[in-house]
Amino acid sequence: MAIWNLGSINADMVYAVPHLPGPGETLAAQELSQFLGGKGANMSVAGARAGSHVHHIGAVGADGHWAVERLTEYGVDTRHIAELSVPTGHAIIAVDAAGENQILLYPGANQAISTDQLGQALSQAETGDILILQNETNCQVEAAKLGRELGLKVCYAAAPFDADAVQSVLPYLDFLIVNEVEATQLEIASGLPAAKLPVAQVIVTLGAEGARFFDTNTDEAQDFPAFQVDAVDTTGAGDTFTGYVLAGMDRGMPMAQAISQAMRAAAIMVTRRGTADVIPDLKDVRETKL
Ligand code: AMP
Repeated sequence: MAIWNLGSINADMVYAVPHLPGPGETLAAQELSQFLGGKGANMSVAGARAGSHVHHIGAVGADGHWAVERLTEYGVDTRHIAELSVPTGHAIIAVDAAGENQILLYPGANQAISTDQLGQALSQAETGDILILQNETNCQVEAAKLGRELGLKVCYAAAPFDADAVQSVLPYLDFLIVNEVEATQLEIASGLPAAKLPVAQVIVTLGAEGARFFDTNTDEAQDFPAFQVDAVDTTGAGDTFTGYVLAGMDRGMPMAQAISQAMRAAAIMVTRRGTADVIPDLKDVRETKL
């Protein structure tokens, strides 16, 4: 089995600055670091590190070869990543001495994926494979419909929240994952609490509180407390959790076991600084004492 991830790939350019720039100000940065980012890329790396075969469906520009190479190095199947004549999606992140930040995000190639590219990639998927979507690319609705037609398990992380996008893909979903804030936004947009959504399986993540799983067919809800750790950076914890849950489903684990393992991976992640580059692998997850 495999996971197909229609997802974003970003270059996160982090500039260390003495203070955040004001309007019209030219400011010299003291340091520049470039990281692989984007919710899509993070989820692909997490799924691959959790032992699944993950096909990333996405796009970069001519400036994004390094990002594709990094994904390959991390075990992601990159043959369905297109190179387009628009820049790779990127975030320009200024961080001051106190850790405050300012972010400019340019979606670039992430929003220029064609339905032809999508169709060609998914034509190689097999019934029962997992398809995961988020809101940092275009083509989610087409992907969700096609995924349903092809008998894939259609999964969606509704982040960053977009009320129109969620409403459009909802009828095609088998699995939905949202954080607490997104769950509230979704309830406002749809009039339905997570437990009543027309989706068979729903997970609401609750940060340091853990996660709640709803099986809407049986009306069962199950709570999973988070591990108690000293958090230093929660960036990417949600994406790591999602990638691990999907990998667990892909490998036929019962949902409770998949969530428990994802909870361990996400807890390790919050003790580390960085995103895709520091997502733990299965060995880390099994051997780290929490
Ligand atoms: P969130 O996206 O913030 O809801 O977090 C996703 C998952 O990451 C949660 O369900 C937890 O498993 C894990 N997590 C997030 N923050 C923490 C934390 N401070 N301590 C332990 N686990 C965390």
